Amino acid sequence: MEYEAVIGLETHVQLKTQSKMWCGCANTFGSPPNTNVCPVCLGMPGVLPVANEEALRLTVLTGLLLNCEIPARAKFDRKNYFYPDVAKNYQITQYDQPSTRGGHVDFEFQGGMARVRITRAHLEEDVGKNNHFDRNSGVDFNRAGVPLLEIVSEPDLTSADMAYEYLNALKDILVYGGISDCDMEKGMVRCDVNVSVRPKGGTGLGAKIEIKNMNSFSGVRRALTYEIPRQIEVLQGGGTLIQSTRRWDDAGGITEEMRTKEHAHDYRYFPEPDLMPFEPTPEWLAAVKSRMVELPLARKQRFMKTYELPAGDAEVFKNDVPLGHYFETAAQGAANPKAVANWVINNLRARLAETQAREIAEQESLGLERSDMTFTGLSDLKFPPQALRDLVGLVENQTLSSSAAQQVFVEMFETGKAPADIVQEKGLAQVSDTGALEALCDEAIAANPGPAADYRSGKLAALNRIKGHVMKLSQGKANPGLVGEILERKLRA
Ligand code: ADP
Ligand code: ZN
Ligand code: MG
Repeated sequence: MEYEAVIGLETHVQLKTQSKMWCGCANTFGSPPNTNVCPVCLGMPGVLPVANEEALRLTVLTGLLLNCEIPARAKFDRKNYFYPDVAKNYQITQYDQPSTRGGHVDFEFQGGMARVRITRAHLEEDVGKNNHFDRNSGVDFNRAGVPLLEIVSEPDLTSADMAYEYLNALKDILVYGGISDCDMEKGMVRCDVNVSVRPKGGTGLGAKIEIKNMNSFSGVRRALTYEIPRQIEVLQGGGTLIQSTRRWDDAGGITEEMRTKEHAHDYRYFPEPDLMPFEPTPEWLAAVKSRMVELPLARKQRFMKTYELPAGDAEVFKNDVPLGHYFETAAQGAANPKAVANWVINNLRARLAETQAREIAEQESLGLERSDMTFTGLSDLKFPPQALRDLVGLVENQTLSSSAAQQVFVEMFETGKAPADIVQEKGLAQVSDTGALEALCDEAIAANPGPAADYRSGKLAALNRIKGHVMKLSQGKANPGLVGEILERKLRA
């Protein structure tokens, strides 16, 4: 029998707030252990939580970006369990009345579009981090009480690759929306994977197996690539699968059983008595709505449509928002936005990267840390975006050859001078004066009797030799298209 995979993801992301969820401690990464803590996030008796309003706003904003419904009333609950990393012995979360529910994410997959439904995105708090040393262990509570959003998908994913693309699309949306920096290395995104298999084309659900401990999106993909065939093999061998939790061993590339359903936790959820239910007013919701941004996929599609860009270029601008913004400014009023995109991606971006690499090397040699370095960005350029449009215009109207345009660009980048001024100063304007070109063509034909004879006998490639000679005579300024035409005419005569 053939089987298919059914996958649902629970993705946790740290919200980008200044302070923690219930106290004023800083929400930052990398501080020495237990330096961003207070009685509230250490779970001392008698303290009271005060909800961080920005975290509530970011939660609802996420709901809007994920096409969710925003219920008129949400509340917080206690999820009770005992573990060293939760000092209170419970985690505050949203159980049966979350802040958002019933949305979806659309994303590009295998040349088409895919949709994954979002069950809910609810607000909770992060817990501390257990650190294990040679002879003892310690708990760092800097992360305890950091606002965390749990985004739960419906079991709509059908393969490891699809799960990977969904996660990337979700991350794009969250980064675009300013919800989270989604820095995996800093543990800002964590993902639990639920996967089962069923006879192909079936509608029921098989035993759900949850996999934990992946620390990257590619880890999720690898875990699923291992786990799906494992489950199918068990069933095909006549075995049965039971609901359980497995741990991904990244080094070994396998999943191992952690616990089965009999050992599942009973969290004894109950409403958090120290927090009021949350009932957003229409004004409050409108203020959050005003923070909605264009989503990455919509942006890509708009770039393709409005500027007639190929998908690859639009993808570059989707992934690099400032560069896309720069392009849009430069393309205003341009006759050929596609050519402007070319210059932004192939010349400007490359030159900036080169400059930055040099600046990093210089500062490294001075012993500076990466976080203390400064380097040239798009906003430090000496010329305005419009100058790039003007440069492209000069190529389009044949004033500049493309090689001369490269020279102008380098000069613009170094000095900030206007392209037209540089062309004037350096005498780079292309010669399109037919009379002048005719004379140069005659001279080149006379100097290349061999290639001229070859061309006349049908070896058309020989024209390039003569054309090259004309370009040399003109010091690169002859309009190559025109030279080609004149030479062909003369040689055919
Ligand atoms: P639990 O109550 O155990 O947390 P949920 O029903 O809340 O389980 O589902 C958690 C996640 O698991 C969701 O993302 C959901 O889409 C997914 N899921 C539920 N059942 C299955 C299944 N049989 N196979 C794969 N994924 C599932
Ligand atoms: Zn605190
Ligand atoms: Mg659940």
